[in-house]
Amino acid sequence: MAYTLITLPYAYDALEPFIDKETMALHHGKHHQTYVNKLNEAVANHPDLQAKAPEDLVKNLNSIPESIRNAVRNHAGGVINHNFYWQIMKKDVPFGGQIADAINAKFGGFEKFKELFTNAATGVFGSGWAWLVSAGGNLEIIGTPNQDSPLTQGKTPLLTIDVWEHAYYLKYQNRRPEYIGAFFNVINWEQVNRNLLATK
Ligand code: MN
Repeated sequence: MAYTLITLPYAYDALEPFIDKETMALHHGKHHQTYVNKLNEAVANHPDLQAKAPEDLVKNLNSIPESIRNAVRNHAGGVINHNFYWQIMKKDVPFGGQIADAINAKFGGFEKFKELFTNAATGVFGSGWAWLVSAGGNLEIIGTPNQDSPLTQGKTPLLTIDVWEHAYYLKYQNRRPEYIGAFFNVINWEQVNRNLLATK
């Protein structure tokens, strides 16, 4: 079974004006599609791997044959990171639920969390992602380079921001901090809360 591009749970313009329609169309239709295609190419001669969810591939990178390990790391990572990113975005969802309690308890309030998450996202050198993860029941903010997934480190993603230039360059050009600031308007806290509950 070939891997396929997921359908977005909303229209390309649903996150306007914070994330523009053109960026969403290219990001999902071209960039994300390319990760799907290249993952299929990487595992073309490995039916045992094709049978696995891409999440399971990145959780067990050491079990992937060395000749395709890096391709799987990059492209399975690209597939699942984007699947996850689309799902944690929605406009006008208030900060609340158990995730809000957990963030407040861990980081000392939403503003402090926002500052730390922003710093992590700003501080990713080159292309990568910033994450809020659950690591053994403990919340952490981390960055990963390229398409590396926290799942490879045994950590469970709760929230992420894509800070590859393709995620923001059309609208924000080189102004990554402006994109990060706008991103806080499109966090789907209900989904982030579901992600937290699923770890329990
Ligand atoms: Mn991306």
